[in-house]
This record gives sequence, structure tokens and C-alpha cells, in this order.
Amino acid sequence: MPEGPSIVILKELAEDFVGKKILRVGGNSKIDLSRLVGQQIKSLRTFGKQFLIEFSEFSIRVHLLMFGTYLINERKEATPRLSLQFANKKEINFYACSVKYLEGDLDNIYDWSADVMSKTWDPAAARAKIKSLPESLVCDVLLNQDIFAGVGNIIKNEVLFRIRVHPLSQIEFLPSAKLRALIEEAHKYSFEFLAWKKAFVLKKHWLAHNKSTCPRCKIPFERAYLGKNHRRSFFCEKCQKKYAPD
Ligand SMILES: [Zn+2]
Repeated sequence: MPEGPSIVILKELAEDFVGKKILRVGGNSKIDLSRLVGQQIKSLRTFGKQFLIEFSEFSIRVHLLMFGTYLINERKEATPRLSLQFANKKEINFYACSVKYLEGDLDNIYDWSADVMSKTWDPAAARAKIKSLPESLVCDVLLNQDIFAGVGNIIKNEVLFRIRVHPLSQIEFLPSAKLRALIEEAHKYSFEFLAWKKAFVLKKHWLAHNKSTCPRCKIPFERAYLGKNHRRSFFCEKCQKKYAPD
């Protein structure tokens, strides 16, 4: 699943379409596509893993889900979910994704301060939200899009490895310094992810995600589907401490 930084890259690649008028629309999405014809793109925004195309009265939300992709000024065999076509054969095509209309002002819909990639990201607000979930596991909290919009499974595994915290640690047993590190690293790693992804070297920097051996202890990583969402976790039983009741 594309994580927040990958959606920021999509936004940057699509920036040329801002101010352009949609001439034709295609795709097999069930939404009323005809409404988009003649609309001018006001801005492109992101919220976590969501790509937002803003018009004057409404917006389109594209979520790439698990296997969604996009192509700019290119097509592939598959029928797109949504194809937006502009003058001079310019187009953007979205495949295998979810497409939805959002009515009204995006600022009334989204809490931008919850987005780790946003200029208005608010670590204190994240801390307060986490504190209100004392019984939650850290692996669930990191994937909670109301707290860390944009953080996905890769960022989760890498952040927990960095701060030496076991994914099954429980919030109320987590020392204050570790909680601070969790919030700081989720933000910091997301921007490192962005820079590495742009340079096509993201995977090279993975220390835990999809890895078989702990680079610190040289012992095999544990692999398990953990938390409420049963997402794949890679962790070291030796150097990642489990903060939990005995
Ligand atoms: Zn280790």
C-alpha cells in the first residue's frame, strides 16, 4: 500500500494539472464522471494516503488502497478507474483505486495537523490522542490514520526498530521518552522515506521491514501478523523491548 510520502510524490508529479480544465473523463468508477467535464483543478492536496483533487465546489478523493497505481501522460492495457484528460493530450489515469466525491471545503473535512507530512503536523496533538488510548498496542497506534495520517506498515516497522520498541508494547507501559521518540521518528522517517523514494533507494535503507536478520544483534527477526489489523511486523525479540504487563 502506498504510504503518505508516496502520495506526496504523486502530488508533485501531477502539479502541472493545477489550473487546467478537464476536457474529457473516462474510467469505470461508479461515481458521476460527467460532473467533472469542464471543471478546472483548483489545487492538489494530500492527506495521509489520500490524494485530493480540489475544484471550486467539491473535491475528488483518490485512495490507492493496496494495489492502486497511476500514470501521467501514459496509459496501460487495464481500464482505469478514473481518467482525467486535458488539452494537448495531457492526462492522468488512476487504476485499481477508490474514487469518491467530497462536498464543500476540504479544510472543514480534514484535520491537517494529523498528517505527518503536513506543514501543520502537530506532535503535541498526536501525543494527547495516543495518551487517550492507554490499552492500545504501539503497532496499532502507529497505523491509526486519525493520529498518524500517512504512516503505513513500512514506516511502522522501521520506526519501532529504530526506537527499540517491540510492536506488542502497550501505550500505558511505554516510558515517556519512548513515546516522544515514537512521535518524532514517525515524522522524521516519513521525510527520509520521501527523499529515499525520490532517489529510488528506499528499499536499500530498510533495516527491519522485509528483512530476515537484525542488523544490531545478527539474529533472525521475528515475523508475525500483529495488532487489530493483523499487519505484517518484523521485529527483534532481543533489542526491541516489550513494554507490557508481565
Ligand atoms: Zn536486535
